[in-house]
Amino acid sequence: MPKITAVRSCTVRIPLDNATTFATRQVLARELTLVEVEVDDGHKGIGFTYGGNRAGGIVTEAVRTLLGPMLIGEDPFRVEGLWEAMYQEALLQGRAGSVMRGLSAIDIALWDRNARAAGLPLYKMLGAHRTDSVRGYASGGYYLDGKTPEMLGAEMKGYVDLGFDAVKMKVGLLDLAQEEARIAAVRDAIGGSVELMLDCSNCWTDINTAIRFVRMFEEYDPYFVEEPFSPDDLENHARLAAATDVAIATGEIEAGRWRFKEMLDKEAATILQHDAICCGGITEWRRISAMAAGYGVSVCPHAYHEMHLHLAASTPNALFVEVFTDDQIVNFRRLLDTQPAVEGGRVMLPDTPGLGYDYLPDVVTEYAVDAWA
Ligand SMILES: [Mg+2]
Repeated sequence: MPKITAVRSCTVRIPLDNATTFATRQVLARELTLVEVEVDDGHKGIGFTYGGNRAGGIVTEAVRTLLGPMLIGEDPFRVEGLWEAMYQEALLQGRAGSVMRGLSAIDIALWDRNARAAGLPLYKMLGAHRTDSVRGYASGGYYLDGKTPEMLGAEMKGYVDLGFDAVKMKVGLLDLAQEEARIAAVRDAIGGSVELMLDCSNCWTDINTAIRFVRMFEEYDPYFVEEPFSPDDLENHARLAAATDVAIATGEIEAGRWRFKEMLDKEAATILQHDAICCGGITEWRRISAMAAGYGVSVCPHAYHEMHLHLAASTPNALFVEVFTDDQIVNFRRLLDTQPAVEGGRVMLPDTPGLGYDYLPDVVTEYAVDAWA
């Protein structure tokens, strides 16, 4: 039986080239926890999670002192058993937030490791549903100082020119007239047949304001409206979902299958966007996706398409992966030695074992705020 000999982690801080504004916050840098699991058969695996704009070391601390030590000497193929053990051990500190992010990063590393040991790309290790590519949507349309609706339209049209037939922009920061000018410029630039997703970044706190905006959105035929309220405000998600025919998508920072079940029971979302880096890793991501299928609900994993393409490819009710076409917003890709190819708006599946990428050691060192330990 192979045995886990080390669980190492490190915190990196990657500044954004330009401060970027969302409806509810501004981001200057991203802190990530990287994880490496080493096994005595010579096969390693890598995982990661996002720890926020600052104090991402809290996640690394959870990996180093709470979760990682539990895995030493254990069989890396016992993924479900190790998940359960880590979850139980972290019941007081974990369940959601930083500790669950640490658990998620370790779980990703275990799946990567086991796929590498089997000599299989991860999507095949998970039981492939698709074998060549998955559909992607291009994500962008952020607020930047001095960015006019015309400039926004040109940006979104640029993604269509790259081959995407679905694009997503941010909304929710400005007043109704200004938001309508932005959305109208984008619809005009991309044409009527391209899917347009609108991401609200938790911008509203009351249902009446949300409905006023969504009535305006409806004129532009959006594919979904994302994160209209705080993730904790399931009641208003449900009210909004009942008031419009537009799909309501949410879940990118939610964790654990129980909370997603509550979301589904309340009909608060018609598309789940759970993210394996925080919902409980690949193991929990798959449980949530299967549960969603039982409710007739589709899934569109949040960001990190380099990793999520494997999960979407092995999940029949997955519709899209979210693709950032450069490193300006989600800059995790700067750490990677390989990027999956995107052709005609589809993300091609790699045939290399595991996740299909490794971290660039020099780049990790450049951004590291602590050493691997
Ligand atoms: Mg989002």
